Amino acid sequence: MEKRELLYEGKAKKVYATDDPAFVIVSYKDDATALDGLKKGSILGKGAINNRMTNRLMQLLGEQGIPTHFVRELSDRETVVRKVRIVPLEVIVRNISAGHFASRYGVAEGMVFDEPTLEFSYKNDDLHDPLLNDSHALALKLATREEIDWIRACALRVNELLKAYFLERNIRLVDFKLEFGKTADGTLVLADEISPDTCRFWDATTGEKLDKDRFRRDMGGVEEAYSEMSKRVFGGE
Ligand code: UDP
Repeated sequence: MEKRELLYEGKAKKVYATDDPAFVIVSYKDDATALDGLKKGSILGKGAINNRMTNRLMQLLGEQGIPTHFVRELSDRETVVRKVRIVPLEVIVRNISAGHFASRYGVAEGMVFDEPTLEFSYKNDDLHDPLLNDSHALALKLATREEIDWIRACALRVNELLKAYFLERNIRLVDFKLEFGKTADGTLVLADEISPDTCRFWDATTGEKLDKDRFRRDMGGVEEAYSEMSKRVFGGE
């Protein structure tokens, strides 16, 4: 497959056309942003770690019956994925309070929920990704009722699979964000990435944060956290 023109450059990834209109190439950058784009920086080695980790997790989910955009890893940073139109919803699943859940509802981080919570944000940088519910998403025609129901069920299933996967690696999956996309024929698939940029990971023994919060909160040890997560997933591979 041949790489063609740059189609889109986001905060953490670039997307290139290929010679086949059904596929694009994603290229992961080391760039990082936080606090609604106000904080910018770079996390050395992040692009390669996020690329490899996302692909491993997408493959694992695919084997468990979750349709994904993943096609094939090309290199350290580059992967072929199915071309999709991203549904403009950020789907956030939480098992433990943290981040905006804790600040919005005035609770401490670390409250373990009896059941996972699921919320949607409207993926819209100009509006700062506002929280929205099903009926708002329907009113805005961001997705149909059937699509929303399917996305919710799929995200909760992904949570069960990933929670168990990470616990085997002594990691608590605190929360994460998923994005879904639609292929040309209208099929919904899991898209975007699953990485320390988009998940909160806490060491199950020490509680140590092993994700982008170390960057967001200037905690130091950012690169070390990403490479520790890579070690937990890949071991010596
Ligand atoms: N998240 C993300 N992109 C966003 C917002 C959130 O990947 O634009 C992830 C974040 O890494 C965390 C989860 O979604 O794992 C929940 O994030 P939260 O709503 O607490 O917001 P944050 O504090 O991360 O801005």
